[in-house]
Amino acid sequence: MRRKPIVAIDGPAGAGKSTIAKIVARELGFLYIDTGAMYRAMTWKMLKCKVNFKDENKIIQIANKTNIELKQLKDKLKVSVDGTDVTKKIRTEIITKNVNTIAAIQGVRKVLRSKQHKIGQKGGIVMEGRDIGTTVFPSAEKKFYLDAKPKERALRRWKELKAEGKRGSLENIAAAIRKRDYRDRNRRVSPLIKAKDAIVIDSTALTLHQVAQKILNEINKP
Ligand code: C5P
Repeated sequence: MRRKPIVAIDGPAGAGKSTIAKIVARELGFLYIDTGAMYRAMTWKMLKCKVNFKDENKIIQIANKTNIELKQLKDKLKVSVDGTDVTKKIRTEIITKNVNTIAAIQGVRKVLRSKQHKIGQKGGIVMEGRDIGTTVFPSAEKKFYLDAKPKERALRRWKELKAEGKRGSLENIAAAIRKRDYRDRNRRVSPLIKAKDAIVIDSTALTLHQVAQKILNEINKP
């Protein structure tokens, strides 16, 4: 029997990847993996160790010994680092600000890529991130590149923060997203780019459910 497909969803920050990937995975009965959470967890660990961010050798050494686990709990993904629950801690501003630096280190990506491979190679998975269709699973059966206008992505992030009781000006949020995307798109290793064979979906004028439906329709095409 053929294995179930691997669904890769990539795109910039705030394009709705996580929410959409979760809906798609639930509908298909597939496992959902948020690779951004893995890079965030690694960043949390490096900050906790107070490692000098310029000391790549040390960072890679720590990354090799760090155990990151993702556990699916209903609609939530529990993230732990060496047994400590960091699900909420990895969503703080300090992590968001520093994650690019850790994610740009080849040795860190190697550690996480091998983990992502192990989790996904049997198929039946929706994996989202920045380099899933290009580097992690270049032969994934279904690849999507989700995008939305920068203004809309900032607005979505602003609404998310508001719902969590956090404040932030739309301008600052837009600037932070711009900076993060720029760094993700222009790094030397595994930059954020659209895979040649990815289906591009612009979600600017669509609801998250409409985007999820588009993806499901593509996956279910005979
Ligand atoms: O998806 P999320 O915004 O949580 O990702 C946080 C950061 O992790 C990204 O800005 C990027 O630097 C890094 N990342 C990556 N490759 C992935 C997923 C995330 O470099 N596959």
